[in-house]
Amino acid sequence: MSMPEKANLLDYDPAMLGSVMTGIGQPAWRAGQLSAWLFRKGAASFAEMTDLPGEVRARLAEDYTCGHPATVAKKISRDGTVKYLLELADGHRVEAVWLAYRYGGTACVSTQAGCRMGCRICASGLLGWQRNLTSGEMFGQVLAMEKDYGEQVTHVVLMGMGEPLDNFAAVHRFISVLAAGHGLSFRRITVSTCGLVPGIQRLRETRWPVNLAVSLHAPDDPLRDRLVPVNRRWPLTELLNACRDYARATSRRVTFEYALLGGVNDAPEQACELAKLIRGILCHVNLIPWNAVSGFDLVPAGPAATRRFQEILRREGIPVTVRRRLGTDIEGACGQLRLRHG
Ligand code: SF4
Repeated sequence: MSMPEKANLLDYDPAMLGSVMTGIGQPAWRAGQLSAWLFRKGAASFAEMTDLPGEVRARLAEDYTCGHPATVAKKISRDGTVKYLLELADGHRVEAVWLAYRYGGTACVSTQAGCRMGCRICASGLLGWQRNLTSGEMFGQVLAMEKDYGEQVTHVVLMGMGEPLDNFAAVHRFISVLAAGHGLSFRRITVSTCGLVPGIQRLRETRWPVNLAVSLHAPDDPLRDRLVPVNRRWPLTELLNACRDYARATSRRVTFEYALLGGVNDAPEQACELAKLIRGILCHVNLIPWNAVSGFDLVPAGPAATRRFQEILRREGIPVTVRRRLGTDIEGACGQLRLRHG
């Protein structure tokens, strides 16, 4: 796999396009036109940028690309969820998912090819880490899905393959492009993490009111050490302090993802322990009916245990929902499409 030689303009943010224009001898004000084509209208070639003079388009094409990832597989669920396997310019393949909700389309985007976090409930961890994605490769997933689906996204969740906070600089730029270039409110963007505390702190320091989702999955350190190995580096006390600070600084409710595993983390006393642990944090618990992944000796919690767990949290005053299962009929259909962050 070799990297393309030309720079991809989708890797830039709108503020950087002025120097692109002056670099080819054009006035900086033309950057606004270029930005609109790249980031709002989603042009996949310079030829589409019809309000730029032909010689400017030709000059841009000499030094730059602006292509989107190619769709190599696509599965459509009965519930409207569409899962894509997308190929990047160097041949790496990543997953992206379009979730069709009543209020609009949510794009679930990958941030890395593979993942090195090794969570014990996630098939992405089995692949190992191949490389970080650039911001343009993340944004390209959004554009490719919008084009295919024929709609603009209303929400973006960074919950595909990879740990977003392990690729902070590119994720930071991607979010700024979504907001400044694509016109998406920060409040409609969610970053999901398995618990990289320094990354949560850096995200908080941006002062962007971006939503944070944390894959918790266990109410105590010994169990979480096993399920989410990054816990050995940043145990629960540190993680929850970072979440509390995040919620305070952004006034956004932190979502704690909790995949219910039969006989592992679904006991009533674990629900009580969880409630005690997160009490006082502006948060919400999302219980996830875990789908069995081959290669793991875990089983999903049963419906009775799920109800009981939810009931205890509710009784303890913790806002809780059970995640609606979308796209279950197409899960695994691509072979690579996988459960992630719960
Ligand atoms: S849950 Fe997220 S962080 Fe953990 S291995 Fe899977 S993709 Fe990586």
